[in-house]
Amino acid sequence: MIEDLIKPNIKALKAYTIEATPCSIRLDANESPYGFPLGQFRLPTNRYPDPDARSLRRFLAEKWGVEPECILHGNGSDELIYYLLTAIGGPALIPAPTFSMYRIIAESLGEKNFMVALDEQFDLDMEPMLAAIKQNNPKLIFLSRPNNPTGNSFTYGKVIEIIEKTGGLVILDEAYQPFSTRGDSFVDLLPRYRNLLVMRTLSKIGLAALRLGFLIGDKAIIEAVNKVRLPYNVNSLSQAAAIGILEDEKSIEKGINSVIDERDNLFAELSELDGIKAYSSNANFILFKLNINSPLTADALHKKLIEDDILIKKLVGGPLDNCFRVTVGTPKENAAFISSMKKIIEETNK
Ligand SMILES: *Cc1c(COP(=O)(O)O)cnc(C)c1O
Repeated sequence: MIEDLIKPNIKALKAYTIEATPCSIRLDANESPYGFPLGQFRLPTNRYPDPDARSLRRFLAEKWGVEPECILHGNGSDELIYYLLTAIGGPALIPAPTFSMYRIIAESLGEKNFMVALDEQFDLDMEPMLAAIKQNNPKLIFLSRPNNPTGNSFTYGKVIEIIEKTGGLVILDEAYQPFSTRGDSFVDLLPRYRNLLVMRTLSKIGLAALRLGFLIGDKAIIEAVNKVRLPYNVNSLSQAAAIGILEDEKSIEKGINSVIDERDNLFAELSELDGIKAYSSNANFILFKLNINSPLTADALHKKLIEDDILIKKLVGGPLDNCFRVTVGTPKENAAFISSMKKIIEETNK
């Protein structure tokens, strides 16, 4: 059987699935509702891209106040997670629930990983976290802050304590940092902690099509991770377009600010719905939970929203059972979502 050729850890792996249900209102993938045209970036197709993305890294280095040598470019930050687990390896410590790619990539590379449950508020639970660090000596600790899919930011002091107490690397995944009203990025702390790495992506601020993520940190670690990077991992169009689009800071800011305002409106409106608990968010999405005693089931809600041409992400597993993650869209999309939610809840309660 040719299937016997597949590695056991890959056989056991469940692929990351992205829902393909066609809906006109897509609030399932944490994308920005505001995009930018790509046609203006005219490049010849015959040459390879700059393997080191020098212009882009220089541009970002200035923006972020670090040296270009401290930045590594990835085909999305997903690729950088892959490279980290390839170059450094496990054991990896991963809170739960969080972004599922940390575990999926660790498993696919056959690297040990272990999960530590977050507390009731979805914050870091320090006693078990510190115990797990002591017991397993993780080489990598992945912390998404704000956390996907819960939307909260782990307490700053707790993150600092973990950075100080581990002998491994702490990856602060700041995919949603632009939406965090606290504005407390860990980039400023990089000079103080050699074992801290910050990960950024352009995917959530309107450039998901470009596939661009970055790892920022100690030169020696960046240099080591760079060794496993495939030579032309970021294409020419993405490199040029990222600079061209990010130069227009005002437009980027406008999109981010609109999402922040709309998120706060959406949270207020969701909180008023019968049988629903919404969790406050520092990101571009909101987690909400259906009351277990509600006559409306999670499957029924998901299906009825799709009938109304609206797609959101249904979550499963442990504390996420009966939970959904809805991405903040345009004011019009959010209004359509809330109005559909109201209608579905009313119909069920009749
Ligand atoms: C979306 C997301 C990413 C993936 O970013 P890409 O740059 O698109 O690969 C990384 N981390 C978290 C926590 C995310 O939610």
